[in-house]
Amino acid sequence: MKIIVTGGTGLVGSGIKSIQENYPEMTFFYLNSKDCDLKNYQDTLEVFKKIRPDTVIHLAANVGGLYKNMTQRVEMFEENILMNLNVIKASYQVGVKNLLACLSTCVFPDGIVPLNENILNDGAPHPSNEGYAYAKRMLELHCRLYTQQYDINYRCIIPTNIYGNNDNYNLEDSHVIPGLIHRCYLAKQQGLPFVIRGTGKPIRQFIYNIDLAKIIIDMIQYNIKTNIIASPSQEHSIEYIARLIAKKFEYNNIMFDDTFSDGQYSKTADNSKLINIFQNFEFTDLETGISRTVDYFIENYTTVKR
Ligand code: NAP
Repeated sequence: MKIIVTGGTGLVGSGIKSIQENYPEMTFFYLNSKDCDLKNYQDTLEVFKKIRPDTVIHLAANVGGLYKNMTQRVEMFEENILMNLNVIKASYQVGVKNLLACLSTCVFPDGIVPLNENILNDGAPHPSNEGYAYAKRMLELHCRLYTQQYDINYRCIIPTNIYGNNDNYNLEDSHVIPGLIHRCYLAKQQGLPFVIRGTGKPIRQFIYNIDLAKIIIDMIQYNIKTNIIASPSQEHSIEYIARLIAKKFEYNNIMFDDTFSDGQYSKTADNSKLINIFQNFEFTDLETGISRTVDYFIENYTTVKR
């Protein structure tokens, strides 16, 4: 199997790279923005023609936290629309029959829980990430249209919040876990309180990037023909996660700043389809995953994205 992985230098792409040796029958070609600007169709087609993959794992995206989604609405929409459109078209053009694209549970309708694969288009997304969300929803539609019209399998994986090595740890523009890890690291260094924004009460699900990488490869290997939410069942409060991180750093000076808003209390994703298909899948427990991620962050502090 000859597989192009777009977004090969990202959090999820590097998760796949770190387990690729377990799949000797698969040859992976990792692309990043230096190999090819996926916003440009001719560049994309040229690289795809050179590699001639039979399979594509499409992870590349313009991704960000709340701040980026709110301040770069146009870029989040346009860049993701262009990348997705070009990857799907180029894949079909070079004869790819097996394509897995990546959505996110944050593109689901706002305020409806639990989230499941059937309700993706049943309401508007949260206004804060409209650009990103609608671009992702168009990606799902685009895959579905190709699959309906031609004899191919283009479908999506829908991960919940992801964490792990090689994340973006920027203080203003990161997701929950990498942001908390960086804050705790700095607080300990400066002898200041580790400040958690909000009450810490909301609950969320998190998937370790290596677990997600395994599920992605399983979906490719077994040619699963349906969209699947990728998430552990368990939900954890932000306070619990912050305390796990603080414990790992051996730093107990924690404060909650409830002048920041909490957002929605829960966004439970229903993983029953995943569990039905991969009955023996074992998720990495959060404490182990966070412990490994903090070790990685400390060891690589000078080079991580932050
Ligand atoms: P990431 O760490 O931000 O990496 C993004 C990847 O996309 C990088 O390899 C980047 O290449 C590449 N890329 C960006 N713009 C490009 C362009 N114009 N041309 C070519 N490549 C480009 O992303 P991630 O967190 O691994 O996310 C992977 C997928 O999971 C995305 O589709 C995202 O929407 C989805 N997802 C993420 C989360 C999360 O919590 N992170 C949650 C749910 C879903 P460079 O390194 O060269 O910039």
